[in-house]
Amino acid sequence: MTVLQPKVLWSSDVTQMAENFNKKCVIGLDRDGVLNIDRGTYTIDPKDFEPIEGSLEAVARIRQLGHKIVIITNQGGIEHGLFTEEDVDKLHDYMFELLGRAGCPSINALYYSASSAKNDMYAKPNTGMFKRCEKEHSDIKFSKGYYVGDKISDLKVAMKMNSKPILVRTGYGKETEELINKRFTYKKIKKATKIFDDLAAFVNWLEAQN
Ligand SMILES: [Mg+2]
Repeated sequence: MTVLQPKVLWSSDVTQMAENFNKKCVIGLDRDGVLNIDRGTYTIDPKDFEPIEGSLEAVARIRQLGHKIVIITNQGGIEHGLFTEEDVDKLHDYMFELLGRAGCPSINALYYSASSAKNDMYAKPNTGMFKRCEKEHSDIKFSKGYYVGDKISDLKVAMKMNSKPILVRTGYGKETEELINKRFTYKKIKKATKIFDDLAAFVNWLEAQN
């Protein structure tokens, strides 16, 4: 089962950026280990949502650059009965509040899967959430954008969507970097992936591309 929060806008959008939105590509973001510290357990309570230093400001800068932003995250704890969709929504409300305070007035969409099961078409590294997002947002094409994550499943799904895979060394990123360096099977992923210390470093690079 997949839960969808279709469109998240928590203030009137920034109109002067509107024309940029058409030109600039989408930046897809994983949540845990990219935006907030991944403690190796599920983040359920808002008080456990601890932003990685500079990450929320980095999202705000992506917005200021005029890119579309979509957060796509597996929340398999729902399937395991550890928390509910309501808990996840509550946590995301808190995250949006923090993003707003950091200077990011809106994002384009947020999708989460209630399962992390391999055979769930929506759970990363499967592409269901991405395809559904494209179907529901005609201006979003992941093949023309980036997907930023910290796990091998993030890089895999980016590859499947023809999105540029970005690995950050926060969360499980360092382990993932070792993995793609070590295993021959990940040679193709390694070649395609760009690696940054954290989201802020990626955005510095992104900014320099403009
Ligand atoms: Mg992650």
